[in-house]
Amino acid sequence: MSKVKVRFAPSPTGSLHIGGLRSALYNYLFAKQNGGEFLLRVEDTDKNRYVEGSVEKMQESLKWAGIEWDENIYTQSEHLDVYKKHAEQLIKDDKAYYCFCEPERLQKMREDQTATKQAPMYDQYCLKSLDKEEINKNLKNNCPYTIRLRIPENETIEFDDIVRGKVKFETNTIDDQILLKSDGYPTYHLANVVDDHLMNVTHVIRGEEWLPSTPKHILLYKAFGWDRPEFAHLPLLLDTNRKKLSKREMDVSVEDYINKGYIKDALINFVAFLGWNPGKGSTKEIFSLEELIKEFKLENVHKGGAVFDVQKLDWLNGQYIKNLPIDELYKLALPFLEQKEFYEKPSPQNPLPKGEGDKKEYIKKVLTVEQDRLNNLSAIGESNKFFFQDIKCDKKLLKWKDMKDDELKESLEKSKKVLNDNKNWTKESLEKELLEAAGDKRGELLWPLRVALTGEKKSPPPGEVAWVLGKDESIKRINSALEKL
Ligand code: GLU
Repeated sequence: MSKVKVRFAPSPTGSLHIGGLRSALYNYLFAKQNGGEFLLRVEDTDKNRYVEGSVEKMQESLKWAGIEWDENIYTQSEHLDVYKKHAEQLIKDDKAYYCFCEPERLQKMREDQTATKQAPMYDQYCLKSLDKEEINKNLKNNCPYTIRLRIPENETIEFDDIVRGKVKFETNTIDDQILLKSDGYPTYHLANVVDDHLMNVTHVIRGEEWLPSTPKHILLYKAFGWDRPEFAHLPLLLDTNRKKLSKREMDVSVEDYINKGYIKDALINFVAFLGWNPGKGSTKEIFSLEELIKEFKLENVHKGGAVFDVQKLDWLNGQYIKNLPIDELYKLALPFLEQKEFYEKPSPQNPLPKGEGDKKEYIKKVLTVEQDRLNNLSAIGESNKFFFQDIKCDKKLLKWKDMKDDELKESLEKSKKVLNDNKNWTKESLEKELLEAAGDKRGELLWPLRVALTGEKKSPPPGEVAWVLGKDESIKRINSALEKL
């Protein structure tokens, strides 16, 4: 077999879609595991759908995900002459024909067909009714034209799809496709086939929505007399109601997930599972990119729609966050923290250290405490704002069950002493000493301490909270609780 060459061929119509990331990833994995090449081709021949800046954004998202392409990016609109030349070759070979039909005629034809419940299809007027002379006259007069592929009648197009197995289409159901538009731009079909051929693409791996285009492409390969690549069509992405993913209902662009604080390895891991899993007998769910390159198999991609379950993504993201070294987590989470109002506009009495170095250490401690419960980078600090703001603590909330004032006072004094006497101020020693001091009366000691330190009913264990806040701030908070009594 010749060297594997695959490509990701997005149209620049917006930011990178999750489905696009999956196509890119599967292509990339397949290339890497076969020692092949992975190309990036921008299919920008539809001027109406072009969105400024989307090529750059897509590149950014791919780079963020660690999907690197070989060679330079290939941009179709820079090669219009190539497509035109090929379309004209097909005319010479009688595989394609000029069509001078005006948009109004085509529209009327379609309306009539729809009214009589026929599938809208070009009626081949220009193929059947124009002779050479008329065609030449029209060309000479610069009449606008398109070039259409002549789809043969009564043929069955059959091919083996790596994912879907045998696929069949009847040519009678296929419209004479436009190959070259009146503005001189090729259509997707022509440009896609010509480029896949000229770039020696061996495998076309793309979303299932392109399956109906494949017989047209196969006919084009035949018309040119070229060998065709292998095809693999990836299953549709569905939401948890098994409906097609919709922009209106959920985030579908990779950028959204980046901005929401998903980490690259988790998103890649998740996307790899949209249509693939390691197969029977394996319960392994965490895969690094390297492991995916080893274990992913295109033949094991399933046909059935792949369900996008955000809860699963959150879980995976949490797993990855849990396993990050704290310095790495700090680096990834800081930009999210810096967007928070409670961080950017801290209250005057906030406990954040002023010096840059101390502040960094402090935030790392917050992250150490939050790490195991964080599903998302953007959730940093959200449920523990008391690490960044001064607190209001409610006297009633300080009491554990029906504690009396003097019992509460005693409890807080006891905690204060433990903290005061602690020598090395580690998370572990604080936890241990507090538990020892509490004995079998944990609620009595730890509840008031928690509320004094956080103002909240719920928080990480008070020993951990104290560890982050530091001795001075912790004692200060306990003292201000005591003042309320
Ligand atoms: N430009 C098409 C897209 O936007 C490419 C489809 C294909 O890979 O052939 O998905």
